[in-house]
Amino acid sequence: MPTEALREVLEAVTLFPRAPQVHFTGGEPFLHFPLLLEGVRLASELGIPRYVETSGSWCIDPSEAVERFRALDDAGLQGVLISCSPFHAESIPPARTTRTLRAAVEVFGSDRVTLYLPEFMEVIQLFDTERGTPLSHYVKRFGLEEARRILWQGYGIISGGRSGYELRHLAPRYPVETFAETDCAMDILHAHHSHLDLCGNFISGFCGGLAVGDWHGLPQLLDDFRAGRYPPLIEILVQRGPYGLCEMAQSQHAYQPLPDGYTGKCHLCVDVRRHLVEVADFAELCPPGFYANF
Ligand code: SF4
Repeated sequence: MPTEALREVLEAVTLFPRAPQVHFTGGEPFLHFPLLLEGVRLASELGIPRYVETSGSWCIDPSEAVERFRALDDAGLQGVLISCSPFHAESIPPARTTRTLRAAVEVFGSDRVTLYLPEFMEVIQLFDTERGTPLSHYVKRFGLEEARRILWQGYGIISGGRSGYELRHLAPRYPVETFAETDCAMDILHAHHSHLDLCGNFISGFCGGLAVGDWHGLPQLLDDFRAGRYPPLIEILVQRGPYGLCEMAQSQHAYQPLPDGYTGKCHLCVDVRRHLVEVADFAELCPPGFYANF
């Protein structure tokens, strides 16, 4: 994200009736540290509450980590959230997670540092702490039932990404009709947490690959939503949820429901959207990279 776009997006969030707290995230925001520092300075100037989310993947040298946290603290950062889970530990050696935690606490103190989720710290360190651990090792070590408890239930997984496919052996599956009475009004219209990306996409909640609009035009977007004017796929999801999306895709775009069912409503949604992105042209199915790299 260019610095100018970062300023624009931070100015845009001040347009919300109640200015939200901003979390700088990625990917991994520490991979472009000067931009992160600039973002924290800009958010401080604008009076926006602010914290950073990091996986700690970058944290190799403890003194450099302390230096970076000090620079962020001086720039006005209010808190640090460090990701800690078997999913992060697939590619991030736990030693880096613990190093990040130590450095962050040294600078910010424990009350301004959140480990998300702390209960995983012990379990990820049962494996080699200098390497990533494939998720299959949890099944080998704990057996299928316990791995299911740790991986599927323990993290509050949202099935709107790869998890419904990659972890299908760990999750119960439900037929499409299970989701007939579920809409997404709360998830989309009243999300307590949203994502604004470098391409202009405004992603409500955790609905990856589903843009409700372009944050560059936030005042118009807010007006449209207040008046109940939604893009076509958003309207269906708000009113009838992913089951409505599935019905539309079946009748108009030859979508075939998965015969062995879905692990959750977002799995149904993302499966339908992966089909729609191939056969139709909906502006809401953004960013394209979400689907191209699935
Ligand atoms: S079903 Fe789709 S729209 Fe609804 S919360 Fe899940 S990803 Fe978002």
